[in-house]
Amino acid sequence: GVDTDALQRWLRAFAASVAAEKDALTGLDAAIGDADHGANMDRGMAAVVAFLDATPPADPAALFKQTGMTLVKSVGGASGPLYGTLFLRMAPATGGAAALEPDVFAKALRAGLDGVVARGKAEPGDKTMVDALAPALDALDAALAAGESLAAALRAAADAAERGRDETTPMLARKGRASYLGERSIGHQDPGATSAALLVAAAASAVA
Ligand code: ADP
Ligand code: MG
Ligand code: MG
Repeated sequence: GVDTDALQRWLRAFAASVAAEKDALTGLDAAIGDADHGANMDRGMAAVVAFLDATPPADPAALFKQTGMTLVKSVGGASGPLYGTLFLRMAPATGGAAALEPDVFAKALRAGLDGVVARGKAEPGDKTMVDALAPALDALDAALAAGESLAAALRAAADAAERGRDETTPMLARKGRASYLGERSIGHQDPGATSAALLVAAAASAVA
């Protein structure tokens, strides 16, 4: 199962890719938002790494809860409460287990996505992080149901997230700041879908 150490590796890998892609994420947000998505996510994930270093969480539920609270507190903007909600909703879905079986990990991620949708009200096709996360979790579920290993299923999820991210480019934004641009949001890749694809890629690289 996926234990606290593996989940820490996931979050640290995500923090590293957000740091590496900080300027690229901010550049995407400059085109259709307010040019802060890279800075927002980097600040949040640096704060997550700081708490992991200072007070290693005892179990997956504690890790998810602390991560969610840290993101809500430290990230300004829409993405903080949304990513925060993702992790906060994952915590109870672990059932207090010390190591998550693949289907429990997938169900926890699904609970997180449901939280993002409940909070942000974005539907698939609205040009948001949901457009990367939803196909990723569908691919994860399908691969696990087909009997694939968690590692293989997470690779399928990462591929689906990247396709979903790419598919945001021709979309008209219907949620968040980009929606203020109307038709002018068309032709630009969504920053939040881009960071969400990094989150799934980090899981594929660090978990399993
Ligand atoms: P802000 O727009 O407040 O500056 P960020 O730039 O950090 O926040 O994050 C912008 C990203 O947040 C968008 O690219 C989009 O993917 C995501 N987002 C915005 N609003 C929503 C929403 N209602 N539901 C889901 N995702 C959203
Ligand atoms: Mg922004
Ligand atoms: Mg902002």
